[in-house]
Amino acid sequence: MWHRYRRIVETLQAILITGLPFVRINGQSALRFDIAELKLYFFGSVIWMNEFYLILLAILFFMLFITAVTAVFGRVWCGWLCPQTVFLDLSDSIARRLPFLGRTFSRYTALLFFSALVSLTILWYFVPPAEAMLRLFRAPVITVFFLVQWVLIYAELAFLGRRFCTSICPYAMMQNALFDKDTLVIEYDRSRENECMQCDDCVLACPVGIDIKEGLSSKCIACAECIDACAVVTEKRGMKPFPGYRGNLLRPKSFWLGGMTVAAGLILAAMIYSRPAVSFQIYRDPEIMPEGINRYSWSLYNNTSQPRKLELLSEDGFVVIGETILELEPFSFSKGKVLVRSEGGKGSVLFKLLGDKVEIEKSVGFL
Ligand code: SF4
Ligand code: SF4
Repeated sequence: MWHRYRRIVETLQAILITGLPFVRINGQSALRFDIAELKLYFFGSVIWMNEFYLILLAILFFMLFITAVTAVFGRVWCGWLCPQTVFLDLSDSIARRLPFLGRTFSRYTALLFFSALVSLTILWYFVPPAEAMLRLFRAPVITVFFLVQWVLIYAELAFLGRRFCTSICPYAMMQNALFDKDTLVIEYDRSRENECMQCDDCVLACPVGIDIKEGLSSKCIACAECIDACAVVTEKRGMKPFPGYRGNLLRPKSFWLGGMTVAAGLILAAMIYSRPAVSFQIYRDPEIMPEGINRYSWSLYNNTSQPRKLELLSEDGFVVIGETILELEPFSFSKGKVLVRSEGGKGSVLFKLLGDKVEIEKSVGFL
């Protein structure tokens, strides 16, 4: 039973992660990091790397999310969602369906294909899929990125496999600290130990080689294969399987941890989507200039999917010299310099940036 549910969840998860780079919102990938311009396309908006407060909040949200999910649902990620588990499970089931090719050969061949797919999928989170496929084996950087990842992922999946989960994975090590007595785990029912047939089918089914009868193990990835194996034996005798899920999901900790995670997510979303359409920064360059003239550097960030045409002006008493009509592509960044000449103005210049639904003022010192 759990095996079938797990396959459905694993397949949906694989489709979601592989398909997400193909989803476009406001003309850009739903989720993609643009290395060249150091910006993250985030579900119809854009986050710039200099927006540290958003990145810190996103990290806080992620940490809270991991803590809440692990404290309540235990190792559900490991057994049901982790790409490592998904691809090892899928390659094992392909190998089972192709016995004429030999289990080992078909498993390694399937893993070769899955590793290439994972490497491509990671690439698509940095380069739009159509562009990545067009430039694969033509652009050296993209080709090396793809091939190096492919080899590393294949080596990890084929030769480390489940040992990665039990000995290297940092998330697996962190989980023990987040568990409490009510966390959802798969446990052997000791109260019925005398009825157990000691057939060891549960041990044979376990992908990490645990004997669930010996009690909880930090190596358990909560895949529920032992429950299904035991159910085959016990159902014939009209009994419940001996291993089973145990835990208390509806406890105060679940609600306050879940509440904090939802609140952090809502605050993050509100901060991303309530930013001004255009972010404008301008500061005076320290270089010594002729008397009555200062030089200023400006930078502009278009946070929307609309192209922008803006005008940079100064208040009476100062004249801006240089390019004052500034054009921005959707989700783009631009920077430049202007000179400002005093025509009676003193102390500070009030810059004005005007455009469609944009009116920003910044006061900067003038020497
Ligand atoms: S003990 Fe059961 S749930 Fe844990 S890894 Fe083994 S088969 Fe999966
Ligand atoms: S599969 Fe079930 S009956 Fe057989 S040894 Fe394991 S727990 Fe006991």
